[in-house]
Amino acid sequence: MPSAPAPRLAPLPAPVRPDPVRDRWTGQMRLAIAEAALATATGDVPVGALVLGPDGTVIGRGHNEREAVGDPTAHAEVVAIREAARAVGEWRLAGCTLIVTLEPCTMCAGAIVLSRIDRVVFGALDEKAGAAGSLFDVMRDRRLNHRPEVVHGVLADECGDQLRAFFDTQR
Ligand SMILES: [Zn+2]
Repeated sequence: MPSAPAPRLAPLPAPVRPDPVRDRWTGQMRLAIAEAALATATGDVPVGALVLGPDGTVIGRGHNEREAVGDPTAHAEVVAIREAARAVGEWRLAGCTLIVTLEPCTMCAGAIVLSRIDRVVFGALDEKAGAAGSLFDVMRDRRLNHRPEVVHGVLADECGDQLRAFFDTQR
């Protein structure tokens, strides 16, 4: 099967002190990491995402299934956003939070903006393709009319290790 190019990942240093901004999301990020693990069964790059409703409950989840379904748009975030929109019954996901193990790409950052999600929490940076500050900063571009809050670096080491372990098996 075709192997995807490895994203270049820059792990952040492990926090040495309590970090109220990031610590709040570690439980949900662990769920996203577990979701990401499901991707490898089909040879997909392990990226996992959750959408939390305004009350914090999970209303959408997805893992990268590009190889599984042969769909170039089947990134974890898009899969989770579609499920969340079905659950809510409309396309607007105002008040929702998206948790994802890897920095969103340009497509996913665009989908996040279009869905009106209020907050994005991600783990590892993707310096090669990331659109949340690495290569582009789509979600905080002041020319767009919706800009979610972005929290990065939640369990970044664990998220990055999961990806590195996958790409090590592909060599
Ligand atoms: Zn993407």
